[in-house]
Amino acid sequence: MSDRDRLRALPSVDKLATAVARAELQARREELLDGAGAGADATVDLVARAQARLRPHLRRVLNATGVIVHTNLGRAPLATEAQAAVARAAAGYCNLELDLAGGERGSRHAHVEALLKELSGAQAAMAVNNCAAAVLLAAAALAGGRDTIVSRGQLIEIGGGFRIPEVLAAAGTRLVEVGTTNRTRRADYEAALTAGGEQVGAILRAHPSNFRTVGFVEEVEIEALCRLGAPVIDDVGSGVLADDVELLADEPAVRRSVRAGAALVAFSGDKLLGGPQAGVLVGSRAAIEACRRHPIARAVRIDKLSLAALEATLALYRDPDAARRALPVLAMLEADAATLRRRARELADATGGALVESTGRVGGGALPLLELPGPAVAIDPGPAGADVLAADLRAGEPAVVGRIHDGRLLLDPRTLTDDEAREVANAVRAAMT
Ligand SMILES: *Cc1c(COP(=O)(O)O)cnc(C)c1O
Repeated sequence: MSDRDRLRALPSVDKLATAVARAELQARREELLDGAGAGADATVDLVARAQARLRPHLRRVLNATGVIVHTNLGRAPLATEAQAAVARAAAGYCNLELDLAGGERGSRHAHVEALLKELSGAQAAMAVNNCAAAVLLAAAALAGGRDTIVSRGQLIEIGGGFRIPEVLAAAGTRLVEVGTTNRTRRADYEAALTAGGEQVGAILRAHPSNFRTVGFVEEVEIEALCRLGAPVIDDVGSGVLADDVELLADEPAVRRSVRAGAALVAFSGDKLLGGPQAGVLVGSRAAIEACRRHPIARAVRIDKLSLAALEATLALYRDPDAARRALPVLAMLEADAATLRRRARELADATGGALVESTGRVGGGALPLLELPGPAVAIDPGPAGADVLAADLRAGEPAVVGRIHDGRLLLDPRTLTDDEAREVANAVRAAMT
């Protein structure tokens, strides 16, 4: 398209203004009819609201919180290779469900199955919309209409409404609790298996991602669980495929659960795996086949953009050292002290802030006790206060999100690139004047 064509293709002022004004007036009418709501009796600047409506609602955010897998900020940023794969899949058609060799209908799972088998050692694999969906589908497929045995120490809530008892109920399987909050032994499972007999569909192990129990505690290891005889669904949560990253040693490795013989291992695509929102299931051929055939599979299927990003992300894991450099989540986790210090110093120089010691976090409900010490920049907000400065920064384009600590705004360089740190500096300078 020539520039002139592009100019001609712009919507007319009339059409744009009318559409926005109409939508804004309708919203305001609804607020007033609702009585309460967003300030029914306050004076509202409808023009400002109409202007805000013209901006994209989903906006770019610079993450200066030091929380790597920040759920509110969209979790894992993608590797360059995954970004390119998404752009390619978005721009045109792709062989999402076409077998290019035979010209027949293919399966969307084929694009990641071989890679997942390679990386996990499992017989079969598939991907769905997210890990919550993977667990729901696994429980429905292996234990729908029957029982699922779970340790009382693993009746966890991940957040956003994901609670194991409720997920199992939604999957149509009856929860059989065993053991206690702090201690569950093999004998507890054995007793439930004997009592349940044919009624037992599966044993579910759920990783307590976002909390830790200490003291007088005991759980059964995955190897022993798999030897009990019933199919084991292992919800490991974060999906650690790089099992040589020392900082991740406390997370259950996917390969270990596969080797132990779990029927299905479920994990997230956008936590420590560092890819798109997705849920991955790896396991035995029969168990994966049962998942694919289950009606829920269609309702939770992964889309082509996420699938493209997932394939590109997984491909990076073939070379674990390259993965640690190329995947932003792993790179931020292992960022070296000198880089962080230099970036923090530049940010401090550009903003007039002070260098302080701080701690970053993994976030995303993983490794809650792991602290990532490093430098941060503390901005003294002046008389207006840190809340006002933080709000101004959030309103900017791009928005900047930091952390407030002791009345100062903290900016953590760990979750910023060098370019982003410069953008943050500009935004802070603009907000302070
Ligand atoms: C995060 C998590 C989930 C949910 O994963 P999503 O990809 O966010 O749906 C399920 N189980 C465990 C143990 C988790 O840590």
